Parts: sequence; C-alpha cells; structure tokens
Amino acid sequence: MTTPSIASFINNASYQDDYDPNSMPVAKARHFIKQFLSPVIESEIVELRASLGRVLAADILSPANVPNYDNSAMDGYTFNADDINVGSTTRLKVIGKVFAGKSFTGEIARGECVRIMTGGMMPADVDTVIVQEKVSTDGEYITFTEAPKRAMNVRYAGEDLQLGKTVLAAGHLMHPADLGLIASLGIGEVAVYRKLKVAFFSTGDELASIGQDLKTGQVYDSNRYTLYGMLLSMGVEMIDLGAIADDPELLEKTLLEASKLADVVITSGGVSVGEADYMKLLLAKHGQVMFWKIAMKPGRPLAYGKIQGSPTKIAHYFGLPGNPVAVMVTFYQFVREALLVLMGQPNPPALPLFKVECTQPIRKLTGRTEFQRGLLFADTDGNWKVKPTGAQGSAILSSMSLANCFIVLDESIGNVDAGTMVQVQVLDGIV
Ligand code: AMP
Ligand code: MG
Repeated sequence: MTTPSIASFINNASYQDDYDPNSMPVAKARHFIKQFLSPVIESEIVELRASLGRVLAADILSPANVPNYDNSAMDGYTFNADDINVGSTTRLKVIGKVFAGKSFTGEIARGECVRIMTGGMMPADVDTVIVQEKVSTDGEYITFTEAPKRAMNVRYAGEDLQLGKTVLAAGHLMHPADLGLIASLGIGEVAVYRKLKVAFFSTGDELASIGQDLKTGQVYDSNRYTLYGMLLSMGVEMIDLGAIADDPELLEKTLLEASKLADVVITSGGVSVGEADYMKLLLAKHGQVMFWKIAMKPGRPLAYGKIQGSPTKIAHYFGLPGNPVAVMVTFYQFVREALLVLMGQPNPPALPLFKVECTQPIRKLTGRTEFQRGLLFADTDGNWKVKPTGAQGSAILSSMSLANCFIVLDESIGNVDAGTMVQVQVLDGIV
C-alpha cells in the first residue's frame, strides 16, 4: 500500500470543490488523516499478560478444540435419550459417578445413568444430561417426569474454538477476555506490534510548570497532564518534552528532537491564527502539515502532517488547540483513532453513539458539530438520561472532569429543547 504524500495533497487540495480548510467537517478531517497513517511494522513476542492493550502482530490459531472433549454443562445425571418414557415417568438406575476432569470408562446399558458434575466428561454410551434439581432419588434409582430434549446440557468439543481455526486475527487489540481465550488454548506467549512512541510538548509564553510560582498572566500547563492520562490508557510509550515558550529556536529544537525520538509528535497551543505564528513557520520548514479550522466546538484549529526529524526519520504530527477542553476533545475525536491505526489496528471500531433524553435545554448553532460535556445519570425510575455539566467554555476543564460522556450534536442540529433525544458518546473506557 502506498501512502500519498501530504505535499501532493496540499497542492491538489485547492482543485477539490469541497475542500475548505476554513470549515472542515469532523468526519472529513478524520478521513483525510487516515489516508496518511502508516502503522508500525516491528513486532515482539511478549508473555500473554503483557499483551493486554497491545495489538496482535500475527493470527492466533487454535492448536486444539476448546473444550477438548464433550462434557456436562450442569450437575445432574447423564443417560441415553432413547430411555425417556415420553408422557410418563422415566426411571433409571444410577451405576456410577463422573466428576469434572474425570472420565467414566464402564459401559452404560439401557435403563441406566451416571451421576455427572459440571465439566465431567460425557461417557461414550449417553447423549443427554438432566439437571439434578429435576429428578427424585429413590435408593439407587432416579425418576423424573419432565424430561430434557436429547443433547440437553451437553457442551461439545470445539464448541468454543475449533482446532486450526483463527481465534484472533492480527490487528486485534487485546482485551481482558482475549487473555482468557488465549490462555484456554494453553498459549503463553504472543506476537504484538512494538509500542508506539509518542512525544508531546505544550507551547506558550504564559505557561508555568507545577513547582514554579505563577507570575501575573501565567497559567499552569495542564495539557501535558490530560495528554499523559489519555496516552497512558492507550498503552503507548510516552516522551514528555515539557512546556516550551513561544521562542522560535527553542520550539524548533524541541520539534526536531521530538520527531527524531518518536513515531508521533503532539503539541498543544500555537496553531490558531493570530498566535505568535512560529509553529506554523517551523512546521512548513520541517514538514508537510495541513491546518484546518474544523467545523466543531470546541477544537476549531487543528493541524496534522508529517515532520522530517532527520534525513531518515519522519514522524506524524498533531497540532492540537491550546484550550484545555479542546485538547481533550480533539484527542478523543482525531488522535485516538489515528493512534490505534498506527499501533497496528487497521480499522478501529467507531466509538458507539447512543440516543438518550437530554433533561436540559442546550443552545447550539447549526453548521458545526458540538461536543458538549455531559453527565449520564439514572432518574428516579432508573432510566438513564443526560444533562450538560454546566458552563461549556473550551477553557473550563471542570466541565470535562465532571463529565462521563460527550453530548454529540452534529452540524444539522440547532437549539435543543429539554426532553429531546440526543446522541451521547460514553467516555469511560474509551482510552
Ligand atoms: P493557543 O491555542 O496557544 O492560542 O492557546 C489557547 C488558550 O489555551 C490560551 O488561553 C492559553 O493560555 C491556553 N493554553 C494553551 N496551552 C495551555 C496549556 N498547556 N495548559 C493550559 N492552558 C493552555
Ligand atoms: Mg499559545
């Protein structure tokens, strides 16, 4: 697969009727970014548990059937369904016992049954299990009137996984269930793509770092902390290059260092218009970068491109807005998916959108997508509803901290009345 160059895209962009960098729809920007993403190819073998949150670099084939043998799904009695007296009582003689992981080697004649525990191996002459609660015992006999259907309560060999079949394909992101699934095959090591390296720094003369005194006009740099949190949950290797003043030489040095060290460089601040425009000049000097005003709120300015860190090293670049909420929204809406692709997952599943009732009115302009910070809550009847988390300015990080979802209002939506159904995107567990 050849990746088009961004330069050729930038040169051709003006000829595309619907390309407007001053009003780029969210979906379109996502699509543009995706065409330039080249995933990591190097892989390593890791112990099964260490693969959690990583992406498989090779298919996992089942070396066996799981389960390995036909077994009982219940504690009960196993017998041949031909022995059922349809419409009346069935009476069977109990001739033995089989526990989980054990087998019964004797013969079971017609009219006989064997006591069997969950996971016990199905003996050769029988095909059905009745749960113990449905039988009455009478010395060495059991009786029952409510008979199960043939094959009831039997788990068959290969029912979960079949020998030779692909259990999980390369490109799969490992979740807790996958660890168990692979363990159930007796496989203790797997091949995963190497960790993605992500370098980031904040830009702005006004930024102070924790531990420094806050001078007049300064704010503490919070973006590197939210980025740290979001990147940590994505399982990437992080390189934090600090808060850099709007000084062209320092910015250039840091940008080049970041591009040499990492696969992806993320900066916050300095990409909006009217800014001391050093970042733009630097990005033009060392790479191919597109600047968009996304038709969204918050998160309007966004830059994406590639930076030449050294003659042999190119890094992906994301220039996020400076405002703290905008950093998080653009990360969730653009960077997260791009990182998943770069980590080796070719088609990351879209984040689900659910419709729920919004209990408060929301003022909103058409023509842009808004990501309002929302709180999903259960009302007194136990129905889940959503409300915005208060003031929604893009610098108001507490609105994000209180939120457990985004209320996603797309371009066609205007003011929202209380009681309207709105789309929400749940935040917990996304990254
Ligand atoms: P900018 O995009 O650089 O114009 O920044 C937009 C707003 O976000 C300004 O009010 C900045 O002070 C603020 N800001 C930029 N970077 C940070 C940061 N790292 N932490 C907190 N606020 C920031
Ligand atoms: Mg700035």
